[in-house]
Amino acid sequence: MTLFLSILAILTCALIAFAMRSKVKGPKELCLICEKELATPLYHDSHAFCEKHIDVYKHGNWKLLVSGNATADDPEYGVKIYKLKTLLSQLDLPSHILVDYELENGSIITKMKLMTLEENLEKAQALSKSIFN
Ligand SMILES: [Zn+2]
Repeated sequence: MTLFLSILAILTCALIAFAMRSKVKGPKELCLICEKELATPLYHDSHAFCEKHIDVYKHGNWKLLVSGNATADDPEYGVKIYKLKTLLSQLDLPSHILVDYELENGSIITKMKLMTLEENLEKAQALSKSIFN
């Protein structure tokens, strides 16, 4: 029961933090792939997309490029994965990040997966070495 309550408390905090972050960012949603602000977001799998990327997302054959965990003590992984995503975007290689939260020994672990299209996987893997090595 105590464990359940602490999990509930942590989840509530995470939700509040998330809501506050959205508020600071403003009401505009960002495209999951290119992160442009969307005046008229299109939705799929409860993610927002621009007109160009909703079809890329729906029809793309997505492959895992890199995955790892970021924690409050070690946020570096998250920084690197976003750097790589930005680099891919600049080269017009669509990618998106899947985020999952897990509770481990009382702290929240952010599990991150950077997904890329199968046809760009090799190119993207070469680029990821420049950031992760
Ligand atoms: Zn987009």
